[in-house]
Amino acid sequence: MLTRVAQTGKQKGRTEGFGMQEQFDVAVVGGGPAGMAAALYTSRAKLATVIIESNVFGGQVAVTGVIENYPGFTSIPGTELAQRMHEAAMRFGAAERIAEVEAVLPGEGGRFVVRTSTGSLGARSVIVATGCRHRTLGVPGEKEFQSRGVSYCAVCDGPFYEGADVVVVGGGDSALQEAAFLSQYASSVTIVHRRQEFRASTSVQEKARHNPKLRFVLGRVVEEIRGDDGVQEVALREVGSGKVDVLPAEGVFIYVGMEPSTEFLRGALPLSGDGLIATDQRMRTVVPGLFAAGDVRAKTTRQIATAVGEGVEAALAAAEFVREA
Ligand SMILES: Cc1cc2nc3c(=O)[nH]c(=O)nc-3n(C[C@H](O)[C@H](O)[C@H](O)COP(=O)(O)OP(=O)(O)OC[C@H]3O[C@@H](n4cnc5c(N)ncnc54)[C@H](O)[C@@H]3O)c2cc1C
Repeated sequence: MLTRVAQTGKQKGRTEGFGMQEQFDVAVVGGGPAGMAAALYTSRAKLATVIIESNVFGGQVAVTGVIENYPGFTSIPGTELAQRMHEAAMRFGAAERIAEVEAVLPGEGGRFVVRTSTGSLGARSVIVATGCRHRTLGVPGEKEFQSRGVSYCAVCDGPFYEGADVVVVGGGDSALQEAAFLSQYASSVTIVHRRQEFRASTSVQEKARHNPKLRFVLGRVVEEIRGDDGVQEVALREVGSGKVDVLPAEGVFIYVGMEPSTEFLRGALPLSGDGLIATDQRMRTVVPGLFAAGDVRAKTTRQIATAVGEGVEAALAAAEFVREA
């Protein structure tokens, strides 16, 4: 085990590049709820810890409007919960790095080499907590109008649509919750869903039905997103009949599911057909010293509370592994 004293002096704080020499007990990949919970526990257990995040600490929480089901808070904006989790996670001296992890490779003496977009570092143990990212529709206009009317983040882009008519695509909790968030700004929010029934939980559906700004178009799929400088309309095809209608809209927010961020592990670890990681109850993968926690795991429930719990379990199992190594 590395002594924390030797690590924290020069490694504490946020940096954007780092050399080959840095060695840690635990490298946590991904700064969402699972990764931050893991880093909190391993650093508090005095293990030299680094947490590597490619984008924003908080992960999906940082782009969620309001969270109403995280224990301890009746209701809290996602950005605030992300910030609070980040502060809490870093207070025991973990180092943080902004970089994309590109590969986790076997190194000398049973250690891992974590290769990132800004350099490599060594770690005795690695916790993968890279979560999921949004799926795309793959229709004409989606890519072309990205950031010019097509968005996957209501929290980030919603305020740009004050007084506008917008479309939300999807039928799960995220689609309905983010539609409600958008209704604070937009004059109308039309939710387009390919099935006749939503997948969202009953309470979320009930809230959505009582929101006077939300409209529902069921049994239709987006065929094309059209416009000139920005989005102007969405072509919708009726499932079954194939009939196409056009809906005027200045914004299209897409919530059609998520896929795991695990490309960097191909070859290092067996992944499921969907790219998810299988673990045992202690978050151990089949590779000794390599753990996974949160949405990136093959499992049924993907929530903040479950991600945090798994981050804690992975941290405790990693600590045991490092101490026994
Ligand atoms: C719109 C929306 C609303 C939601 N609402 C709720 C809710 O109300 N309540 C609830 O409990 N849950 C909600 N969820 C689900 C919840 O946010 C997730 O279950 C939770 O964030 C999963 O945490 P995680 O740490 O596993 O992954 P994530 O939150 O996905 O974090 C993973 C992190 O890893 C980083 N990363 C990915 N690849 C790399 C790489 N190669 N190198 C470095 N970093 C990388 C990502 O940038 C990201 O920050 C919502 C999700 C969405 C999308």
